[in-house]
Amino acid sequence: MKNIINVALNLPLYRTYSYLIPEEIDDIKPGVRVEVPFGQKKLVGICVRVDKNSKHKKHTYKLKYLNSIIDKKPVVTSEILKLGKWASEYYQYPLGQVLFSCLPSKIKSGGDIKITDDREYIYIATGKALDSYFRNKHAQKKLYNKIESSEGTEVDVRKNKTILKSLLESGYISRELKERERKITKKIKLSKDQELAYRKIMKNTSSFAPTLIEGVTGSGKTELYISITKEIVDNNGQVLIIVPEINLTPQTILRFQDYLDFNISIYHSALTETARLKAWASCLNGEVDILIGTRSAIFLPFKNLKMIIIDEEHDSSLKQSEKFRYHSRDIALVRAKNNSIPILMGSATPSLESLYNCQIEKFSHILLKNRFHNTKLPSVTVVDTKVDTVRDGFSSTLIKGMKKELDDKKQVLLFVGRRGFSHTLLCNVCGWTSKCKKCDVHMTFHEYENKLWCHHCGLQTKVNFKNICECKSESEIIPIGMGTERIEKRAKELFPKSKVMRIDSDTINNISKLNNFINQSRDGKIDILVGTQMLVKGHDFPNLTLVGIIDIDSGLYSLDFRGTEKIAQMIIQVAGRSGRHSSEGRLIIQTRKPKHPIMTKLLENGYSDFSKDVLKERREAALPPQSYLSLFRVSTNNKGEGLIFLNKIKNIYRDTITILGPAPAPILKKNNRYYYQLLINSHNRKFLLQKSSEIREYILKHKKSNFRWSLDIDPIDLY
Ligand code: ADP
Ligand code: ZN
Repeated sequence: MKNIINVALNLPLYRTYSYLIPEEIDDIKPGVRVEVPFGQKKLVGICVRVDKNSKHKKHTYKLKYLNSIIDKKPVVTSEILKLGKWASEYYQYPLGQVLFSCLPSKIKSGGDIKITDDREYIYIATGKALDSYFRNKHAQKKLYNKIESSEGTEVDVRKNKTILKSLLESGYISRELKERERKITKKIKLSKDQELAYRKIMKNTSSFAPTLIEGVTGSGKTELYISITKEIVDNNGQVLIIVPEINLTPQTILRFQDYLDFNISIYHSALTETARLKAWASCLNGEVDILIGTRSAIFLPFKNLKMIIIDEEHDSSLKQSEKFRYHSRDIALVRAKNNSIPILMGSATPSLESLYNCQIEKFSHILLKNRFHNTKLPSVTVVDTKVDTVRDGFSSTLIKGMKKELDDKKQVLLFVGRRGFSHTLLCNVCGWTSKCKKCDVHMTFHEYENKLWCHHCGLQTKVNFKNICECKSESEIIPIGMGTERIEKRAKELFPKSKVMRIDSDTINNISKLNNFINQSRDGKIDILVGTQMLVKGHDFPNLTLVGIIDIDSGLYSLDFRGTEKIAQMIIQVAGRSGRHSSEGRLIIQTRKPKHPIMTKLLENGYSDFSKDVLKERREAALPPQSYLSLFRVSTNNKGEGLIFLNKIKNIYRDTITILGPAPAPILKKNNRYYYQLLINSHNRKFLLQKSSEIREYILKHKKSNFRWSLDIDPIDLY
């Protein structure tokens, strides 16, 4: 009988591998890293199961021995191992790749976990009898004497690290963490509504209790999170807070730090490797009280996690859109359930999934209907651009509205769906348009850098207007569609005295730039903000009173059944930036479709009512959240090839499960590959997963080598 372990490797393979444990090793736990031989290579793997005295003798003679064990203590805790196994099965992604994606790079490659401990300590002489140890050890003796005579007060030991270590190890001195002086922090006084919500949530903190907080923009969800977090950490628990990608600015952290003097760490993809490793390790050893991070933080190990908060739970950046396509909120729910702890999900515009879970009483539902500062939600003006026509993006109503606010020294925000100058360029004479060579989309014109840029494959070409099209009609080339650059340019022409700033991923590509902009904006240095999505989320601009949505129409006719939900969320979120503090805010929307239900129902009755209607429609159409979907995508470099392949699959499975498609993906050609997709749909989640797995296996077995494929369980973006 042999001892065997199962090892998950960081490879795209849907299985684990067995290795023999050398006799001399008797202590190995699941979750440690091991080095194993794999073909000609040596790979780092994670032990996922230990099978002592394995009964399966049959094939053990074929097995190889593992080379070495890297860790004494697991780097993947039993909690994360369980969560990872669940995620691997649910999202049908290889276990090894799931587990490795939870680890910092240095740990993945087998590196040392050691990180410098920069906490401050007080050193104390233990009173151990001094013996021959100190003979001839002058420096040791000197430091010892210094520590002894300090009697527990602080001693500067920075230059004596090695000596200190040997004194500690030989037991002549001991150390204690220096009691940190607590900063004086602001106290929160909750409003009545916040207080009620707080009590409801804190009533039950020792079992799985999911709660959706649907609070209008400016209702003070953040202050509520802070109060709850304080209570949990005061009782020695750790709190994990997940925020959307773009919202993660030190501004959010600052708000927490204003109120709480705890050990707060951050975790997101823009951190340096060292910082990520440090955050990870300090979660693992229990040093962190509060961790604020983006979606991948859901896989961080904690010692005593007592609460998970998902801010902006509707936000699509919580779902990873490539490779391991998981939804951080959904994994958080499973984690909270595994740990029997509460989970809060907050949003002004909750996802229909979560609202549905409230309807069927899986989640408790807390409503915050009023803004904290008691200002009203913005009043809305819908501009029919068939009547009040726009010139370069601006209707006369919008211009008038802006003038009024700017004269009153208020701030204006203009929301534009797309960065760049124009959606495309068109020649009025020969009809040439700026189509991408490699994709089925138009290249966006970026005037500032004078280039055409494909936002799908990244192709960029310099623009020379003289011979851009065949007929060489330089003066007839016109920009079609509105991008941020074009609106910025026009705003400057219309309001030459105002300071205009453009905020999109071209101008703001790192956190320090984002902060710089936020500070300028708060200090009143900017009058007109022009921006994309980036401006919508979470920010609090005290002086902003008018939001203009330049063009909503392209979003109204999305192919995606979630199109309406997404655009409604966007409108409410962007409108929510307006009039948060004192004066009443305004929202101006320009559209050719003023009778669209978004314009009538959403803006008149609010998101809460609107979402109920949309839920009803989803039920009638048997679409999520009333049913479940999996999305298969196949691409090859030959047109039509993927479609034939998916049709084969359809013919095999059509009698057992509802199949939608196959069809060309909404962008058929991307980077010279042709994409096709097929959806499967069922009311029964288990059944859907089982069929997804059958189809996945079929694909693996029958695909040609030039095929690329993907499977997305619970897809958010169908285009
Ligand atoms: P939400 O996240 O719900 O959109 P915020 O948390 O940003 O709203 O709150 C809106 C504004 O009200 C912020 O300026 C915030 O500081 C303030 N606020 C909310 N609750 C309180 C409170 N209890 N005490 C003081 N200020 C608060
Ligand atoms: Zn392209």
